[in-house]
Amino acid sequence: MKIAVLIPYARPLWFSHIMYRLDLHIHTPASRCFAETQTDNISRKIVCRALESGLDMIAVTDHHSVEYVDKLRLAARQTRLVVLPGVELSTRVGELNEVYLLAIFDEHKPKGELDRLLADLGIECRHQGDCHFRIPVGLETIIAEVLAAGGLIISDHLDKTPPRQAFFPEIISKYNINAFELKNISFSSYLQENFAREEGLSQQKVLSQAAPFHFFTFSDAHRLDRIGRRYSEINLSECSFRALQQLLNPNNSDLI
Ligand SMILES: [Zn+2]
Ligand SMILES: [Zn+2]
Repeated sequence: MKIAVLIPYARPLWFSHIMYRLDLHIHTPASRCFAETQTDNISRKIVCRALESGLDMIAVTDHHSVEYVDKLRLAARQTRLVVLPGVELSTRVGELNEVYLLAIFDEHKPKGELDRLLADLGIECRHQGDCHFRIPVGLETIIAEVLAAGGLIISDHLDKTPPRQAFFPEIISKYNINAFELKNISFSSYLQENFAREEGLSQQKVLSQAAPFHFFTFSDAHRLDRIGRRYSEINLSECSFRALQQLLNPNNSDLI
């Protein structure tokens, strides 16, 4: 099933903006839960599958590992596919054991810098690829380290269970997260469930109130045939990390 376009609000669309198809949550054999058994030439296969799915940009987001970021970048070098290096991080906050973040970086971010980030977060070799590992430093520190490394943060899986959904207000107000990947609930029903009913607002109003936030859906592919199964179509000035950063953090003066 393909679900697209979960951006409730975008900056004014200049005519130069083009709609790009993004899947910024893709796993590789660097994740232990990767479900593909035939991993020969897998980087090339992932790139081919992404292109066949009509994707313009992907992010490699293995669990606590950046082992495949260079392999994917290399495999995509002669193609039009933009590959962003990234990592999926998980931690706990209080009683909530499942707080997930996608940390996504510039196309050219050296892998060595990402390795250092993982080390700074207390992720040892034995934790890399492990989806059950929980980063020992607090969420605040994780976010600060990722931002200091020039990364973008998208909260993922937050719509999956009621306890996680209940964390939504806190992650916005206390942790200043403004980008979310929704998995199982459509954007409109999610907002209606969580905001509209109490506030008695029309969906239109909710959408405008949600203006500072960005909602995406991605595949979270753990197998080749899942790549691009879900994606987001987004208007960007160009197909690049920088354009994505401008969309999510338009007030960041470093970008102007
Ligand atoms: Zn996994
Ligand atoms: Zn994942």
